[in-house]
Amino acid sequence: MKTFCGRANPTTGSMEWLEEGEDYDYHQEIARSRYADMLHDKDRNVKYYQGICAAVSRVKERGEEAIVLDIGTGTGLLSMMAASAGADFCYAIEVFKPMANAAVKIVEKNGFSDKIKVINKHSTEVTVGPDGDMQCRANILVTELFDTELIGEGALPTYEHAHKYLVQEGCEAVPHRATVYVQLVESKRMWSWKKLFPVHVEAEDGEKILVPPSEMENCPGVASVCDIQLNQMPSSDFTTLSDVVTVFSVDFSKPVQSASTYYRVQLEPVKSGKAQIVLSWWDIDMDPSGLINCTMAPYWVKPTSALQWRDHWMQCVYFLPREEPVLQGEKLYLTACRDEYSVWYHLQKAREGENKADEEEHKADVCVESPVCRCRAHLLWNRPRFGQLNDQNRTRQYIKSLRKVLKTDSICLCISDGSLLPVLAHYLGAKQVQYLVLFFRSLHFNSLFFSHILFKANHLEDKIKIIEARPELLKPSHLEDKKISVLVGEPFFTTSLLPWHNLYFWYARTAVSTHLASNVTVLPQAASLHMMIVEFQDLWRIRSPCGICEGFDVQTMDDMIKDSLNFRESREAEPHPLWEYPCKSLSDPEEVLTFDFTKTVPQHCLSTEGSVKLLRKGKSHGAVLWMEYHLAADISVSTGLVQMSNEKGNCEWNPHCKQAVYFFSSVIESEILSDPTAVTYAINFDTKTGEIAMDFKL
Ligand code: SAH
Repeated sequence: MKTFCGRANPTTGSMEWLEEGEDYDYHQEIARSRYADMLHDKDRNVKYYQGICAAVSRVKERGEEAIVLDIGTGTGLLSMMAASAGADFCYAIEVFKPMANAAVKIVEKNGFSDKIKVINKHSTEVTVGPDGDMQCRANILVTELFDTELIGEGALPTYEHAHKYLVQEGCEAVPHRATVYVQLVESKRMWSWKKLFPVHVEAEDGEKILVPPSEMENCPGVASVCDIQLNQMPSSDFTTLSDVVTVFSVDFSKPVQSASTYYRVQLEPVKSGKAQIVLSWWDIDMDPSGLINCTMAPYWVKPTSALQWRDHWMQCVYFLPREEPVLQGEKLYLTACRDEYSVWYHLQKAREGENKADEEEHKADVCVESPVCRCRAHLLWNRPRFGQLNDQNRTRQYIKSLRKVLKTDSICLCISDGSLLPVLAHYLGAKQVQYLVLFFRSLHFNSLFFSHILFKANHLEDKIKIIEARPELLKPSHLEDKKISVLVGEPFFTTSLLPWHNLYFWYARTAVSTHLASNVTVLPQAASLHMMIVEFQDLWRIRSPCGICEGFDVQTMDDMIKDSLNFRESREAEPHPLWEYPCKSLSDPEEVLTFDFTKTVPQHCLSTEGSVKLLRKGKSHGAVLWMEYHLAADISVSTGLVQMSNEKGNCEWNPHCKQAVYFFSSVIESEILSDPTAVTYAINFDTKTGEIAMDFKL
């Protein structure tokens, strides 16, 4: 069987469908999976174990046999816990074949083959009866099917089905219950991930303001969850307007309904302010007493308890459809709507003198429709991109650079996805501005639509010309037979996964070469790739072997992850937003490659070799790589490190970009020595593929 994998080619900007062997998908799945992170989640594992022991005891005390159904067994961990706790038999269901195979091996290695039956099926396909997968219905239901939003991985329909067909009435469930909490906040930082703020530009002829189109004003945005490591959000970046409130809970020991519904809670702001954001997280009680509790509550909620770091469960940020000024003590209703897989929120003010009857009426106008973006900007830009475009400091750098390079007779061509640069270039005096909307790209219709409404809202429809073309098919007629004097790009392309994929700008620049004036200015004039060796505070866990987990040998899983990481013999860098994942630098940042945009992409590869010294004591988990763009003389923007590390090596990262992380296959501990350890590297930018390969020796 062949799999087709879609990926953007960084040299053409187009999506390509590559035929990959059957193994490819599975290696990707395993290599990028969260299994290692779950196995390192001590708090989760300990509490599951306690909850499972308690459930088995309760069943035994009733004089019954303990028959366990473990849905989504993964490594088989929870079934092995149940078998150790004295369960008579476990049915371990796993839909993902490579994992089911691994579970069989792990169960065998740990000596539980006679107690645990691994079934490679989706739970809804499992049959019960003398000839079925299960001999009889289970009386203990164990699962770990939750994502950051609790229900996003389909826990509700799975439970609904299990209660109907696979477990006995009155069964014990581990976890017993999940509860979802919310807190209403005001946060300019997080609100800037959903709204476009006006941009102020000091132009020759006075201040100009780029205003967002009215279509954006009340646009509900998109339903996809925004999950972040909220513990990395400093308290100075938001104001809590309400206490923490429970919105809903699900009792997993009773039949569960997955059909769309809503929950309404009353709130009284503890502070006046602008309600913009609903922060949300959940906890699970492993047993009915609620004494074994595993919580995702962020740092300010339970400041005394030690926080367990984890990446497989984080916290959610929900954006209200519009900003609502609220007063301390006033009565508000917050509604959580949900379908089978996602949740969204809206806020209403209680009307004056409201009574029960009104409240019923109120319920009727609760929206149950999931949010659908009307302005297309939320389809075109993801949340970090909104944040980036709203970053005034960044915009200032572009304005400053444009001011340097633009002249009143400039003929300007802009190449970047969903960019504000054409508007800025126009305000700053370019005589003619063309915006090349790359018509073959996946989001090109959204880009086109949004550019139209943006230009219209700013009365620029006939000032900025949208050219819908591929760069290589640009014709002199598109440019009214004029040559381009200034070529600009942020550069930013929606399909870029790794930092260097935005080098597509260089390829596009090469493709439009014949249209450039001989004295053309290209902005940015160059880019550079930077690298630094780091020790992660926590992120290392996601790629690190676990060995023994709560007394169970899961090395088979470690080996499987290692094989998948080394599939095709070379490890790859992976994108991570490092503002969410603190690390300390062990080496100085180093510029490793430069890309000269004033010239065309060369035929030959660009490669470099060298070594970096480890200047601080610590564990070298990997290398971080990022791009810097040199916009004009003395003006650069970094998509990675923004603040040089201090004494301790702490780093501040660009909060709107993902950096590339290359995890070393083994970790070395460096000591401060008179002659510091060096890491040697070889980095190669293949101009034919637009990809960067690297190799490190410790
Ligand atoms: N129980 C393991 C792994 C949890 S990850 C542990 O706690 O460590 C969840 C696993 O459930 C994944 O491997 C996924 O493939 C599987 N899964 C999710 N829904 C399922 C379903 N309805 N039926 C069978 N497997 C499912």
